[in-house]
Amino acid sequence: MLLKTIKRQVKKHIGPYINPDFVTFLRKYVDIAEINLNAALGKHFLPYPRQTIRVMGTSSCCNLSCRFCPSSKEERGKIMPMTLFQEVINQAADMGFSVIDLTPIRGEVFMDKSALDKMQHLDNHPKIKGYKFFTNFVVPSEQTIKELFQLRKLNTLRVSIYGHDEQSFCDLTRGTKKEYHRLVKNLNSLYELYDQNRSFHLELLGRTVPSFSGKWPRSELQEIVLNFEKTHQVVCDGIFLYHDYGGKVTNEDVKSLGLRMTDGSNVYKKGLCSTIFIWASVLEDGRVDACGCNSGIDDSLIVGDIKKKPLSYILSLNNPLYADIIHEQIEGKFRPICKNCTIYHSIYKHGWWKNYNLNQVKALLNR
Ligand code: SF4
Ligand code: SF4
Repeated sequence: MLLKTIKRQVKKHIGPYINPDFVTFLRKYVDIAEINLNAALGKHFLPYPRQTIRVMGTSSCCNLSCRFCPSSKEERGKIMPMTLFQEVINQAADMGFSVIDLTPIRGEVFMDKSALDKMQHLDNHPKIKGYKFFTNFVVPSEQTIKELFQLRKLNTLRVSIYGHDEQSFCDLTRGTKKEYHRLVKNLNSLYELYDQNRSFHLELLGRTVPSFSGKWPRSELQEIVLNFEKTHQVVCDGIFLYHDYGGKVTNEDVKSLGLRMTDGSNVYKKGLCSTIFIWASVLEDGRVDACGCNSGIDDSLIVGDIKKKPLSYILSLNNPLYADIIHEQIEGKFRPICKNCTIYHSIYKHGWWKNYNLNQVKALLNR
């Protein structure tokens, strides 16, 4: 807790002034030391692979068109039908997955008009313990915000706040002034209701342009973010690194905002990537991505289709498409999407999860 507070304060006060290249450089050499030491000692730090699954009920639909997001360059509009959603949840729950991440990789949860129905379905499912999602929080109506407080298993609501005032919001997201004011209004509604009984923990994550100095006059957006901190002790965490999604977003795309994209060439990679056991994802059309962190950029980690084979087969070592990815990574062979990935997390590096070793995980995946 103390470490988290120190990290947050460092990030808040000096984060905007640190060169992202320096952060990636530092991270690389710290990783080299930790990963090689643990590899030599034979220590593994894998998460339990049957805990959280991502179900992209609303993938590829977004109201905004952020300059740093690859979805702004793509066709959008797919939403997972309710019947397919229920089938995916049943199969995932039977396999032991008890936490559902509803965040589309590049999309907005509330663009799906049945989003609340899907959440209520999860509330009523006896084997599901919780669910969570990110939202840009522009789309929900006042009534929808009220209904979030009626949900019983929503455990984390993460609101991404882009920009620090009207101009920076519009510049970053290509959104309209109306959308900016809707975001401010929605945050105010959430703030007013926040003392009510609720199942969820709120996280605010902010991104803005590097020219932001944080000085007066404060915008309405800064005021509400500060009110959350003062009254409800909800601190807005700043994010300063922008991942380039395997080169899909370039520095040219974000040059006018003074941003820089970070690529995966400086991420030290050795051994199986742990993230593969946290980010297994079912896409809106039923295809299964072994790791959804770069879903839609290419199909090289697609390992099956739930409409053709059960999920328990697709995410097992009996499925050669899935087994090949695992075995290749164990041997240090990474497909291009993984080679360029900034989110890679080595089996030899500590995570925030309870640790399992490779043999334990393989035994589970062989069932
Ligand atoms: S709100 Fe999220 S998904 Fe939508 S365009 Fe922005 S970054 Fe992409
Ligand atoms: S390297 Fe990146 S894309 Fe590949 S499995 Fe790991 S997190 Fe997923």
